[in-house]
Amino acid sequence: MKLDNVIYATVTRPSMPPLSEFISFLETIWESKVLTNNGVYHQQFEKELGERLKIKHLSIFTNGTLPLTTALQSMRITGEVITTPYSFVATAHAIHWVGAVPVFVDVDDFGNISTRKIEQAITPRTTAIMPVHCYGNPCDFNGIQEIADRYGLKVIYDAAHCFGVEINGKSILEFGDMATLSFHATKTFNTLEGGALVCRDSATKTRVDYLKNFGFAGETKIVMPGINGKMDEFRAAFGVLLLRHIDGEIAKRKKIAEIYRESLDRVEGISFFHDIEDIKHNYGYFPIFVSEKRYGMSRDSLYEKLKANGFHARRYFHPLISDFLPYRGLPSSNKKNLPNAVKISEEVICLPIYADLQKDYVERIAEIIQLK
Ligand SMILES: *Cc1c(COP(=O)(O)O)cnc(C)c1O
Repeated sequence: MKLDNVIYATVTRPSMPPLSEFISFLETIWESKVLTNNGVYHQQFEKELGERLKIKHLSIFTNGTLPLTTALQSMRITGEVITTPYSFVATAHAIHWVGAVPVFVDVDDFGNISTRKIEQAITPRTTAIMPVHCYGNPCDFNGIQEIADRYGLKVIYDAAHCFGVEINGKSILEFGDMATLSFHATKTFNTLEGGALVCRDSATKTRVDYLKNFGFAGETKIVMPGINGKMDEFRAAFGVLLLRHIDGEIAKRKKIAEIYRESLDRVEGISFFHDIEDIKHNYGYFPIFVSEKRYGMSRDSLYEKLKANGFHARRYFHPLISDFLPYRGLPSSNKKNLPNAVKISEEVICLPIYADLQKDYVERIAEIIQLK
């Protein structure tokens, strides 16, 4: 029996480079006294991140939300933006912050925006589509692009879950007009807080760099009302170091996913995603979907049972963004409009997964689920 209040595992724990390596980087920062404003680690991290991700034009940010707002601002997006209710709330907030209105569209069984439903949501005010590659599983990017081209819409992918995800050897970040990443502590790759904006050419990258630095395009010239989105030297240094270890961390996460899949394969009423052929995954999340009818226990009861046993899973994404106070009054937030999103949001539990999660804990979690 578990001791009261002992937590054996939470949904995730951040990857961190060895402290001994970080200390010498700190010494360099202390000597230089350059703490921010495009210092040497900022430049090094941006360059090495681009190489690791096979991306030519990207700009690093202080978190994963400001690249979303900056992407929309840089393309002067207004009116309505079609997006998904099955995501972290920042996706819709970013649309709100540029003064546009999010229009929620239902999702498919992966939790990704349903291409079929996008077209029905287009109005004369629609200017862009902001899909999310949920859990790092790719959206139907060809279908989405085809609609965007036909209606003259921009596509900005919230790729917060997609560090290192590739499709046939090509980065998932290559799709759309822009894509954004988050390096929040809970993500596969982190810089404590952090993020990046991926764009397609150097002129746009320059413009984005201006916008994340108040709009400064020179000592006395402001091109637009930009924001302060710059990453500091400490976190850039952390990022440089973690890049050297991240492949090993992802390989360890993959092993955890494999144990879950093997152990939960024949549990009636529990489903989960398998690896997709030709996709390089990053194993950031291990969502399971609990069918109350077939499993014989509700999602919330299983969630509470795991918690009582010291395993703190999370219900990502529940509630839907469209159910939160700022958005629930929108016409597109009507549940009748979003049946699949409602269903998976009521069934999902993201199980603990991180590089150093002990194997016996993974087995114990699987056992709790098997025994009901
Ligand atoms: C984490 C996350 C973000 C925001 O990232 P922050 O770095 O926390 O600002 C945006 N969208 C999605 C889908 C996320 O999961």
